[in-house]
Amino acid sequence: MSDKYLVINAGSSSLKFSLYDMGEVKEIVNGCIEKIGDSDSFYTLKYAGKKVEKSKSISNHTEALRTMMQELLENKFINDIKEIKGVGHRVLHGGEFYSQSVLIDEEVLANIKFLTKLGPLHHPSEIEGITIMQNLLPSACQVAVFDTAFHQTMPKENYMYAVPYEWYSENGVRKYGFHGTSHKYITEVMQEKLGKEDVNLIICHLGSGASMCCVKYGKCLNTTMGLTPLDGLIMGTRCGTIDSSIINYIAEERNLSVSEINTILNKKSGLLGIASENDFRDLNELASKGNERAKLALKMFQNSIIRYIGQYYMELNGMVDAIIFTAGIGENNIDLRADIVNAMSNALDIKLDENVNNDIARFKKNQSGMISTPDSKIKVFVIPTNEEYMILKDTYEISQKLKNSTSRKLTKGN
Ligand code: AMP
Repeated sequence: MSDKYLVINAGSSSLKFSLYDMGEVKEIVNGCIEKIGDSDSFYTLKYAGKKVEKSKSISNHTEALRTMMQELLENKFINDIKEIKGVGHRVLHGGEFYSQSVLIDEEVLANIKFLTKLGPLHHPSEIEGITIMQNLLPSACQVAVFDTAFHQTMPKENYMYAVPYEWYSENGVRKYGFHGTSHKYITEVMQEKLGKEDVNLIICHLGSGASMCCVKYGKCLNTTMGLTPLDGLIMGTRCGTIDSSIINYIAEERNLSVSEINTILNKKSGLLGIASENDFRDLNELASKGNERAKLALKMFQNSIIRYIGQYYMELNGMVDAIIFTAGIGENNIDLRADIVNAMSNALDIKLDENVNNDIARFKKNQSGMISTPDSKIKVFVIPTNEEYMILKDTYEISQKLKNSTSRKLTKGN
């Protein structure tokens, strides 16, 4: 029987998981448990072209992981939990500790705990996920894959904020960047596509959370998210870059605490704040019916992307191999892609191939492709992201290295 590997993404109130068979390297099942802690929690399992939804009251992540294990066994996705040889955990923040994925040992877990102050919404559930899986599967290889890791190559002048230096040296205030696993995946796909390692890219990861990454010679040079995922592009519910003095001003004007404002900037701003709608499909529908706020929100979102493309084009001194659209909105929103490319066509000498662009979305004939014409100065692509695959790949590679070093040690000892 071939080895099984699990990928786990423990959000604050959700748990996503995928189980892989490493014999054929294929996904057996994936699931998502939602509204953990609420009375109306439920979960979805997708396998063999089927989608099954069940409701069950799940009060915490321990119960969620137990439910996951129960489903894996009852449906015979595994016959014994010992078949699971590796578990890859998505971890939000690696701080300055980690520029790549690592095997989780005591020190790593202590560092992830220490970094809870930089990821207060994500780290508690991620730590719970790691601890429970370590107890359930003590002999499996547990690996942490950090959202920040890919961005650790940024030069200091790009990650520092112009605030008192002690805020950085004593409190860790700097740009870390997120969605690194997605940006790394897209970089690797593009390296293969373009047949070279030293690719220069502008990657637009446009989902409900959105960020961009400027890649120089295959490494992150700059990115839009900052100390936390709040900075940069306008997002579904996050404000993106704003004048920080708004916080003090609005605290006095509306008698709000800093913590209340922080929640509003994270959960009630962005597209939702402007147009009372954060799902891009619904926002588009509203805009098409003439809703002025929806039209404004779409224009603001589009402009925030164009501004960063301009910035990154300059940071790469115009030597851009490709601009890539990915994630829910980037992969599916044909009009947004067309509007962005057309808005920059003169400045960057790029041309959209409308026919190809019109045919790329999850529900269309193609899911990926080059949407620029052959004579376009910069190539433009749509590439579906695959963070789960990256987590699986890193976990498998680390577990194989560990296996080889253990067997070498055993041979030596004999
Ligand atoms: P993600 O966070 O990557 O799952 O992306 C979620 C966002 O993608 C939401 O705003 C969705 O409305 C948007 N999205 C998903 N499918 C489509 C689609 N077919 N057309 C436009 N937007 C979509």
